[in-house]
Amino acid sequence: MVGLENKTASSNNFIKNIVIEDLAAGRVTEVVTRFPPEPNGYLHIGHAKSICLNFELADEFKGRTNLRFDDTNPVKEDVEYVESIKQDVKWLGFDWDGLFFASDYFGEMYDRALLLIRKGLAYVDDQTADQIRETRGTLTEPGTNSPYRDRSAEENLELFERMKNGEFAGGEKVLRAKIDMSSPNVNMRDPVIYRIVHAHHHNTGDAWKIYPMYAFAHPLEDAIEGVTHSICTLEFEDQRPFYDWVVEQCEMEAKPRQYEFNRLNITNTVMSKRKLKALVDEKVVDGWDDPRMPTISGLRRKGYTPEAIRAFCREIGVAKSYGVVDERMLEHFIREDLKLKALRTMAVLRPLKVVITNYPEGQVEWLDAENNPENEEMGVRQIPFSREIYIEQDDFMETPPPKYFRLFPGNEVRLKHAYFIKCEEVVKNEAGEVVELRCTYDPETKSGTGFTGRKVKGTIHWVEASQAVPTEFRLFEPLINDEDENEDSSFLERINPNSLETLQGFVEPGMKEAAAQDKFQFFRHGYFNVDPKLSEPGRPVFNRIVSLKSSFEVSKA
Ligand code: ATP
Ligand code: MG
Repeated sequence: MVGLENKTASSNNFIKNIVIEDLAAGRVTEVVTRFPPEPNGYLHIGHAKSICLNFELADEFKGRTNLRFDDTNPVKEDVEYVESIKQDVKWLGFDWDGLFFASDYFGEMYDRALLLIRKGLAYVDDQTADQIRETRGTLTEPGTNSPYRDRSAEENLELFERMKNGEFAGGEKVLRAKIDMSSPNVNMRDPVIYRIVHAHHHNTGDAWKIYPMYAFAHPLEDAIEGVTHSICTLEFEDQRPFYDWVVEQCEMEAKPRQYEFNRLNITNTVMSKRKLKALVDEKVVDGWDDPRMPTISGLRRKGYTPEAIRAFCREIGVAKSYGVVDERMLEHFIREDLKLKALRTMAVLRPLKVVITNYPEGQVEWLDAENNPENEEMGVRQIPFSREIYIEQDDFMETPPPKYFRLFPGNEVRLKHAYFIKCEEVVKNEAGEVVELRCTYDPETKSGTGFTGRKVKGTIHWVEASQAVPTEFRLFEPLINDEDENEDSSFLERINPNSLETLQGFVEPGMKEAAAQDKFQFFRHGYFNVDPKLSEPGRPVFNRIVSLKSSFEVSKA
């Protein structure tokens, strides 16, 4: 059996188990899936779940996956979105077999609609959208038949053709499937399958004045492409009977089946294209790829890797139950991915000048610094040390609380990779703010020499001042605190004013030429990425991907 060798049931992906059963039972001989975005925005991390699911499932069983743009709504769609979606799918590490547009099939969809009309299974309705809604009934009451429901096939064919020719205004007429106005499933009460839209389409231009509705178009697209497992999110569950009806009544040769899974929600994360678009349009963020956005392009610019996103998607699994994933789980996976790969260097985000008064003026020495203590293969670099360095403002307190082990007057700390220094004097400006520390160092305590004379409790990081590279650091918080996907109205009023903090500090000289998208671990600060848009040659700008610690543990169950 194709691709079925050594496959065992998955504990966290029920769709994979369905595929195994379908292959074993011979219902399908090749697994064909598709990822069907509507090109009306950039992809987000929720889409990544669907992308990983569709592509990995087909890959695993040696099947095929198509990338298909569901471009049946000419008003909201744009080529900019098509290009960004292709780029994002590729960046995630997937290669589609076929690249299609739903609009490629408009001709065939139209023919299938004609077939329905001829079979007496579709009719042109002159009612307004409001009337159609009002006569649809409710969950407890049946709907009522349209007065136009019993038009003859001939009349319907003629009217539908005139709709196609642009003889009617938008909304004047629709084509409806003729099923059952008293069906317990509201979706089966003569759903609209074609509407009139006078708008330019990004792919078909002005060729069409009528456009198929998503619920009608989607099963046809799947059947035309020979998709075997059409995977969508749970809100389409009630559409499944209509999906099957379309495949059956339109006499499609292939019989795709629809399966629904739970969409990804993440704490404190806006996850709807409509809301994300509002953030872009209202200029709350500086574009779809703003590092605060949960878009694939935003995560990429923030510094996420495809490996981390794919590992995250595998871990969350595929189920039918509603749930919200802790944002710290995504962070866990980028830490895991970068732990052994990222160069560990020192950066000072909020600088405080330190003068080492007993260090010879004009002298610079080069000290050995391990590039990654957890990965010896990454080797050692040299960093300069001299009389003037920068340390973190936070690493000094004039009157420290108990158990403060960093610098304070009279206290000694270890400088990472260098010497012990002792704070002798505090220099303040007229406003009384600390602007400089004067310290002494002990040459005996040089790192790597095995000094054991005495111990200090604090180790702090630093950057040598004369060669330090001035840089900007960008730290992020959620765009919206307590984001609740069901809370709509006040969403733009709940913007977190502190979602972006910009700091001017310094990095080691060796990082001057860091290239866009290079990733580092800054000692004690976390993982950072070189911003591809804001950095200039010799002056990198760093986005913080994630801090170092988290209380979050991925369960090993
Ligand atoms: P949104 O509601 O964010 O606009 P959408 O579902 O309208 O998303 P589409 O472009 O239609 O966006 O989606 C393409 C595919 O991605 C669909 O199969 C959809 O089910 C899936 N998808 C979208 N959002 C999520 C999510 N949060 N979790 C999992 N899959 C998702
Ligand atoms: Mg959509």
